[in-house]
Amino acid sequence: MDRVDVVIVGAGPGGLAAAIRAGELGLSFVVLEKGSRVLQGILDTYPRGKKVYPTVPKGEEQPFGITELQPANEPVEDYFARVETCVKERGLQIQYGHEFQGFVREKGGFAVDAGKTRYSASAVILAFGSNIPIDLGVYGEAKMVARNLGNPEEHIGAPTLVLGGGNAAADVVSTLSKTKRDVGDSTPVYWGHRREHFKVDKDVARDLGEEILLGGNIKILQGTVPRIGEVDEEGVERLIIQTQSITLPHGVEMQQGMSFPMKHVIACIGTQGPSIIFDRLGLQQITCTEGVCKIGREGAKLVMLNSCFQTSVKGVYAIGGAISPAYLLVEEEGALREKKHSNLIFKAVQDGVHAAEDIAGRLSRA
Ligand SMILES: Cc1cc2nc3c(=O)[nH]c(=O)nc-3n(C[C@H](O)[C@H](O)[C@H](O)COP(=O)(O)OP(=O)(O)OC[C@H]3O[C@@H](n4cnc5c(N)ncnc54)[C@H](O)[C@@H]3O)c2cc1C
Repeated sequence: MDRVDVVIVGAGPGGLAAAIRAGELGLSFVVLEKGSRVLQGILDTYPRGKKVYPTVPKGEEQPFGITELQPANEPVEDYFARVETCVKERGLQIQYGHEFQGFVREKGGFAVDAGKTRYSASAVILAFGSNIPIDLGVYGEAKMVARNLGNPEEHIGAPTLVLGGGNAAADVVSTLSKTKRDVGDSTPVYWGHRREHFKVDKDVARDLGEEILLGGNIKILQGTVPRIGEVDEEGVERLIIQTQSITLPHGVEMQQGMSFPMKHVIACIGTQGPSIIFDRLGLQQITCTEGVCKIGREGAKLVMLNSCFQTSVKGVYAIGGAISPAYLLVEEEGALREKKHSNLIFKAVQDGVHAAEDIAGRLSRA
């Protein structure tokens, strides 16, 4: 079993930042990546050609923790190529096709199970992102509904529905609209969200605005609720959404809706975070209750972390997308505070740097 100071799980921006900083501080490390490339999580979820923005959350002004990982408003393919070059030039040790399974405690740290192999490490950084999609919550089956935009060309010639009110949905709407516009296809892209207000960052909104001004056929459906997944008489799997509901006297409701073939529906309604994995690893979490949590949804589990992203298991850190949109900060005096954590590359990179620095500090004191 190979011995390293730190096992880093995931070669996304968070894991790579941790690896780069760990290397700079003289720590030995290995990065486990279940995919076959760096930034696999990003490549799997971003629409093709999507621009990657260096968005910095409100109130934070520090420079990007690692300059080479800072996106430059560039297509995701260019960002990937730059990061891949940086990884090669720095000679980072990444084990592709190695999926982290768990760890057991052993003397001086952890025995980490990476499927094909095992590592012995003093510390573990969990940087595996947040990739468990939230359930669509409809009556009936909706398994055919995609969770990200694979090939935009597959939607040419068919009205397409994008669900979700955030950046990911907005990106998919712009990309789809542009793909259709480029080939003179006038079928609309419907953009549906449960709420009245959409919540997108400035950069994303700018791209969307540009797309609309350039003639993109985007139709916004506020207050849209996905209702039923069913197979129609022609055998097509369809998703029915409710677009309007009017209350009539005597408890009668009149509902208006639309129905789309599921193969033309993309639901970007977010991810629920890896609380099941945290539970399995024995990391302490607290369930949000209404009125107490302001960021986490009721019932969501928030992992407990100290200010350096160390979990309740000493030596195990959780960073980046895996702890978004919120975690519970354990303050020095033991008080707990719900802390917002934007799911942005900037934050993942910053967390990775902090975690690596904390581990280096702990090991030099040991
Ligand atoms: C559509 C979309 C658009 C976005 N646009 C932007 C943007 O423009 N700018 C911005 O700042 N942010 C953007 N984000 C958010 C940004 O991508 C995330 O904040 C960032 O990727 C989080 O980095 P991470 O390293 O924590 O996780 P990830 O990037 O998800 O990386 C996690 C890695 O861990 C690997 N992994 C998972 N499980 C295991 C396992 N068990 N064993 C080994 N490896 C594993 C995955 O394959 C993946 O490569 C966007 C997100 C989406 C979905």
